[in-house]
Amino acid sequence: MSVSATQPGATPFSELTRMPDARGHFGPYGGRFVSETLSFALEDLEQTYASLRNDPAFQAEFDRDLAHYVGRPSPLYHAERWSNALGGAQIWLKREDLNHTGAHKINNTIGQALLAKKSGKPRVIAETGAGQHGVASATVAARLGLECDVYMGATDVERQKLNVYRMRLLGARVIPVESGTKTLKDAMNEALRDWVTNVDNTFYIIGTVAGPHPYPLLVRDFNAVVGREARRQSLDQIGRLPDALIACVGGGSNALGLFYPFVEDEGVTMYGVEAGGDGVATGRHAAPLSSGAPRGVLHGNRTYLMSDEAGQVADTHSVSAGLDYPGVGPEHALWKDVGRVHYVAANDDAVLDAFRELTHMEGIMPALESAHALAHAKVLAPTMRPDQHIVVNLSGRGDKDIMTVAKLDGIEF
Ligand SMILES: *Cc1c(COP(=O)(O)O)cnc(C)c1O
Repeated sequence: MSVSATQPGATPFSELTRMPDARGHFGPYGGRFVSETLSFALEDLEQTYASLRNDPAFQAEFDRDLAHYVGRPSPLYHAERWSNALGGAQIWLKREDLNHTGAHKINNTIGQALLAKKSGKPRVIAETGAGQHGVASATVAARLGLECDVYMGATDVERQKLNVYRMRLLGARVIPVESGTKTLKDAMNEALRDWVTNVDNTFYIIGTVAGPHPYPLLVRDFNAVVGREARRQSLDQIGRLPDALIACVGGGSNALGLFYPFVEDEGVTMYGVEAGGDGVATGRHAAPLSSGAPRGVLHGNRTYLMSDEAGQVADTHSVSAGLDYPGVGPEHALWKDVGRVHYVAANDDAVLDAFRELTHMEGIMPALESAHALAHAKVLAPTMRPDQHIVVNLSGRGDKDIMTVAKLDGIEF
């Protein structure tokens, strides 16, 4: 199931901005490994998106929604007290936590909802892990008056009751998935199965830069507003580009959103932080890139994929449900091979420390997913000078995680 890795450095960074190729390949990754029925639906979507991608009217509609509904641009905040305490580089937070619904995910769901509207389909479906993408999808469906069904692993339904109720209040139906490990990957399998059957009246809103072509492309494009803003804000507020960018990586959409507009800026070093769980050496993690997992096909694309000895997709572990995914977007797989992004892992312990530290020192409570990026900032900043600058993507707010942290503190409500 493995393919040979691209020679490191063989692809110039400037080439990366032209990816994927016409067949949806990012070097040896990506593609469209699906049944014939879905293949037709995906070709349709590809054509619709190709006609709208550079259409000024579509872009204007997207920009207006991002401004009036999401509340963009999100601020670039100088975490001065925390930077001083760490005693190194200046840390700047890209405040995606301040978006409507509390994370970067709304950027993509707004974009895909516009595509759903253009397609004239009255029903949308989505997969969700922690429930954040489900909530974002239910939100845009409510706004457009679309029927919305959200697939969610039965284990996650139990763990994330508040988000389940939130989706129901928004008018969505939440369908618990009882197969496999009853988590995100199983939810995505079921959503793909639903789509095959109902492709005539249903638009599938995928929540990250994974899935079959053209999803990794369009989800990246819709999130790239994060990096475009951060680049402009850095020039305005710092007076130059930052020295480093850091973002957490589950499927990889908030990271690609931040990184993509900087891909040709070779002076900007980039770090993608995966979920180290109990530690990569224990096998209990969700870090396919930094653990050097084998490559295989999952959910219609080829990528790095955590698998067991029998070649089955492996169980994953992380304190944050939103990073608990055994694969990773195919574009990240290529960026790892060519060395454009450094992929590292942060363990649960370090993540909780970072969560508490930012909350105490800046009055900002990050999502546990985002706290992975903060944990690496704690490692990196002290190795740099005070006149250097790091931009960290604060992908979401931590309200949804208060119960998880309370439980670890031994507090019952
Ligand atoms: C879902 C989620 C993530 C992980 O998804 P990516 O596609 O890797 O960005 C990260 N942060 C938050 C706040 C999330 O809700």
